[in-house]
Amino acid sequence: MNKFIIITLGCKVNQCESELLAESLKASGWSCCEKGADLCIVNTCTVTQKASMQSRQAIRQIIRANPGARVIVTGCYAQIEADEIRKIQGVSEVILRDFNKGAGFEIQNSKLLSALKLPLPQSRIPDTAFRTRPFLKIQDGCNAFCTYCIVPYTRGRSRSMPPETVLEHIRRLGAAGFCEVVLSGIHLGCYGLDLFPPVNLAALLHRICETKIVKRLRLSSVEPNELNEEIISLAAASDYICKHFHIPLQSGDDRILERMHRPYTAAFFKELATKIHEQIPDAAVGVDTLIGFPGENEAAFRNTYRLIEQLPVSYLHVFPFSPRKGTPAFTYPDKIPSKIITARCRDMRELGKVKRQEFYKKFIGKSLEVLVESRRDKSTGLLKSISSNYIPVLLTGKDDLKNRLVNVRIEEINGKNTVFGSLEEG
Ligand code: SF4
Repeated sequence: MNKFIIITLGCKVNQCESELLAESLKASGWSCCEKGADLCIVNTCTVTQKASMQSRQAIRQIIRANPGARVIVTGCYAQIEADEIRKIQGVSEVILRDFNKGAGFEIQNSKLLSALKLPLPQSRIPDTAFRTRPFLKIQDGCNAFCTYCIVPYTRGRSRSMPPETVLEHIRRLGAAGFCEVVLSGIHLGCYGLDLFPPVNLAALLHRICETKIVKRLRLSSVEPNELNEEIISLAAASDYICKHFHIPLQSGDDRILERMHRPYTAAFFKELATKIHEQIPDAAVGVDTLIGFPGENEAAFRNTYRLIEQLPVSYLHVFPFSPRKGTPAFTYPDKIPSKIITARCRDMRELGKVKRQEFYKKFIGKSLEVLVESRRDKSTGLLKSISSNYIPVLLTGKDDLKNRLVNVRIEEINGKNTVFGSLEEG
């Protein structure tokens, strides 16, 4: 039997694409292996200079570890540095996305699959033994051109999966036994605007909610200006949509937001976070921040820090700015020294820990419905689970609880923000 390895760098969307590819290969009789592969695929990332470097390293490592294998490189880094990659000895092919008119939603995988002489998959059904919360990529590409971001150049304009196809995928995932599906995309908030007739994310959510095909639905990140009243009300009104919003704020300083080409202000974000909290007091609000953008002086940084400090934010993802060749911000003056960026990131991460603990502590002694994951926690051996509002809870229990929704009582939170719960009867 032919053996393959897929190495994936970068975001959840890359992971979705790689999983889809792995399913197609398996369906055609290939088997996944850890070494001695006949075929190696590296799905690269270039969101930061570091990600590009890690992509190059991954290509070299896979070539060394699998002598004689066919090595295919694809993904965002391949998209902008194809010639450089072709120079690496041992790379067999670089497969690029096609942004031409008419290029379809899954164009990258279809090109890859046709290069491998494999049929396009009917649908992607991961194995419940390995994954409890499958990601379903329903949108790709972006039209926003934030000044620090390379994505619109590597993934092209926004393309959406038609609603019927989304429903069909969710139906199949529900039939395969999955309780939760995570809707993901590069710019999820502009879902459907490219379709004819256009639809929007809220309309899609309404349709999915009506069917109740899986037990719950989670949204991956949605831009502040696109997380509208309709979506928030929908999540407030039912338990079907997880009470969890991940919002890429990036900066809490209006001047920096404008330089980043982000279409909202700090006041807008404040109103949004407050509105979510008023309508759904238990909701998790996660925030991405990009620290050290050119021109971010101490006052601008403090604006971001204080904004988050005062708002009901549950956790933070902190990214240090690194200039990305090919984006406008690469040439911006007033670069912030890396030492300052590191110190600011440290402060933000400390704030993130405090916010996370404050949020988790609110639930001590309370009951939460959690989805038990398919893998146990490595260090404690306890079952891992996740609540609708994105609290990871460890609990004692047998393997037959895996992939089930159960009620737990939150008992304790330790100094590392690990949450322990106990199974409730019934
Ligand atoms: S919205 Fe901005 S940050 Fe997000 S993918 Fe598009 S350009 Fe990049």
